Amino acid sequence: MKKHNFSAGPCILPQEVFKEASQAVLDFNNSGLSILEISHRSKDFVDVMEEARSLALELLGLEGKGYKALFLQGGASTQFLMTAYNLLQTKAGYLNTGTWSDKAIKEAKFFGEVVEIASSKDRNFNYIPKGYNIPKDLDYLHCTSNNTIFGTQIKKFPITDAPLICDMSSDIFSKQLDFSKFSLIYAGAQKNMGPAGTTLVVIKEDILGNIERKIPSMLDYQTHISKASMYNTPPVYPVYVSMLTLRWLKKLGGISAIEELNDKKANLLYSEIDLNPLFKGFAAKEDRSNMNATFTLANEDLKETFDAMWTEAGINGLNGHRSVGGYRASMYNALSMESVAVLVDIMGDLERKA
Ligand SMILES: *Cc1c(COP(=O)(O)O)cnc(C)c1O
Repeated sequence: MKKHNFSAGPCILPQEVFKEASQAVLDFNNSGLSILEISHRSKDFVDVMEEARSLALELLGLEGKGYKALFLQGGASTQFLMTAYNLLQTKAGYLNTGTWSDKAIKEAKFFGEVVEIASSKDRNFNYIPKGYNIPKDLDYLHCTSNNTIFGTQIKKFPITDAPLICDMSSDIFSKQLDFSKFSLIYAGAQKNMGPAGTTLVVIKEDILGNIERKIPSMLDYQTHISKASMYNTPPVYPVYVSMLTLRWLKKLGGISAIEELNDKKANLLYSEIDLNPLFKGFAAKEDRSNMNATFTLANEDLKETFDAMWTEAGINGLNGHRSVGGYRASMYNALSMESVAVLVDIMGDLERKA
């Protein structure tokens, strides 16, 4: 039976990517070898890495603008500390919009002074703070574009002269932005780009080299830039599958094409949440995310019935994160409009039944 995968991450990827990726496990590029057994120094794999890096820059519109793309390991969680290790000399600003920002703040504190310029913790992170002041003397300002757990998304980014760093793990390649406003972008692959096991880092080279501390090789961005993301054995298969997904996105028409589809999916689901009296949205309306929609039942007594209905329809991964409860529908790039329509139909059926 066809499944409708609303999982928050690792998450749905395009079927055609799965097909091509599975073929490469058996025979990669008609080489008679599996992608899992070839040398990462072979031309075939070096080509994969180079294509993945250049596709990332091309799709973000950052080619020829002084940026480098890297595919690293250790997840977005390692970027929480690596950004600070490489860039925090004295003082950095952080916008605290949820669990992931909170964790980034905790790591940065190992390296210098951290100013929380604003936080939405007072309302369990159900909104994006606005109208805050940004100090002038920051080494950088860090924010999280999409809050995967709470279902909020930044629509207007902070304006500052300091380098802007953004954790885009759960909305990278989902909507058009002027990406050149950011000096460093990072994203764990498993939310919208590929399988778990690699993290994309897009970095403007000229922000490096301004701090006094010594940095161990593996945690130094310069190491990975100078070795074209091949300083040590890269995560060959996650990079390959990410490359296939980026090719898929390019063929589809790039970020602006997928954004149109993502808007339609989110509009369909949010209008059901708003109109159906049995459901309540969690995130503040003006800040809600096109990737992760968080909502609850107005009457918890209906939980058993609703859960049975969506499970029966082949829907997977709809349970909310424990810190919010209720439900979370993650609508990443590869999720079809049809899957969202199935969920919306069930929500309507519940209303007619109740
Ligand atoms: C999932 C997630 C992370 C953590 O990513 P890992 O790759 O598991 O370390 C960080 N930030 C955001 C916004 C996320 O959604």
